[in-house]
Amino acid sequence: MALSGVEIFKLLPKTNCKKCGHPTCLAFAMKLAQRQASLDACPDVSEEAKKVLGEASAPPIRPVSFGVGSMSVKMGEETVLFRHEKKFVNPCAVAVEVKDTMEDGEIQEIADGVMHSEIDRVGQKLRIDAILINNASNDSARFEKAVKAVMAEAPDVALILATHNPSAAEAAVKLVADKKPILYGADDSNAEAMASIAKTHKVPLGVSAKGLDALSALTEKMKALGVEDLVIDSGARSAREILEANTLVRRAAIRKNFKSLGYPVITFAQRDDHMLEALVATLGIAKYSSIVVVSSIEKWKNVALFTLRQNIYTDPQVPMQVEQKIYKIGEPAADSPFMITTNFSLTYFIVSGEVENSKVPCRLAVMDSEGLSVLTAWAAGKFTASKIAQFIQESGIENEIKKKELIIPGYVAILSGAIEDKLPGWKVTVGPREANGIPAFLKSR
Ligand code: SF4
Repeated sequence: MALSGVEIFKLLPKTNCKKCGHPTCLAFAMKLAQRQASLDACPDVSEEAKKVLGEASAPPIRPVSFGVGSMSVKMGEETVLFRHEKKFVNPCAVAVEVKDTMEDGEIQEIADGVMHSEIDRVGQKLRIDAILINNASNDSARFEKAVKAVMAEAPDVALILATHNPSAAEAAVKLVADKKPILYGADDSNAEAMASIAKTHKVPLGVSAKGLDALSALTEKMKALGVEDLVIDSGARSAREILEANTLVRRAAIRKNFKSLGYPVITFAQRDDHMLEALVATLGIAKYSSIVVVSSIEKWKNVALFTLRQNIYTDPQVPMQVEQKIYKIGEPAADSPFMITTNFSLTYFIVSGEVENSKVPCRLAVMDSEGLSVLTAWAAGKFTASKIAQFIQESGIENEIKKKELIIPGYVAILSGAIEDKLPGWKVTVGPREANGIPAFLKSR
């Protein structure tokens, strides 16, 4: 069970030395109880207290990772039920299934699709994270062949090796143990053999059971067998079952600190109807899955899933923003247009994209507005004539350009006179209200 702030306080040195950055041990204890501080911050805590508090302060959902290098996938570590409470930590991975009953060419085509699935959205690179190789044939040799076919095309991709057959599991895991795949398929019937393979090759183990009682009994059994890095599958397959099981798992882990279910969840969304599959996958992303498995990776589906995932896993309390500075788009000359906007990521990427479309080299001043869009920033007093003038003066741009002309967004046309008053010698031009008007505006000048 989680400890209260007072219970934690009793285990701290109680010297109020402030080395942890908090005014008192009690204040630090309260932060620890809310999982907003790390015990490492107190250098004087005793070994015994570390042991008790270490367990109590561990994230209620165990951190587990698979894959290596830049394509490794981190899961778990979540501490809340709802994203408005605190940012969700590790985005749900999307994995595509290949079956070892497919021809090599088909497997390689899917693997190649994974390697080319990257989409750039608001400055982040989004992609399919993993390939699940299903030992549908139940044959070791075919399973190995499928693993080799995937590796030939996508050597760095994170893998999930799915089989209930320990001999096939052993053969496949051996091939790619250095890539730290998840071995999925442990259940009550093969628990000892699968645990032994996972332990020998130091890979996470995916366990499945029918229902949450059986699942928590199985995770306890695996823990007793010495396997701690688990990914859990409650057997839920319909949308309703997935919603119920995932919600109960998350509540049990977060609210009750129920360790037997405190593991990343894998959800199988594969359907013959790809539209329905996309819908079930979105449910998994929205409701607590750490991995969602799909059967195909059409671009339309990827765009929908990645966008949802990105929205859910950004911090709702911190708007996405870009650095305040003057960005050069193309190779602007001293007399190229000079525009200004705010530093809300979406605003920046849309405006800079439209400037690029215009093929007119430009300088784009992006002003820190705490991540607010133009109109919101203006209404909040963060994109005012004085602040714009100060930013322009301090930027040193006057030494770089010939013509002192500043193009402002059409939505804040009202500021043009005030900016000219505060920036002597400058001409302010009102640009279009919407970013999609920028190419025509720039070309017409
Ligand atoms: Fe207390 Fe440790 Fe913080 Fe010092 S560093 S105030 S002993 S919790």
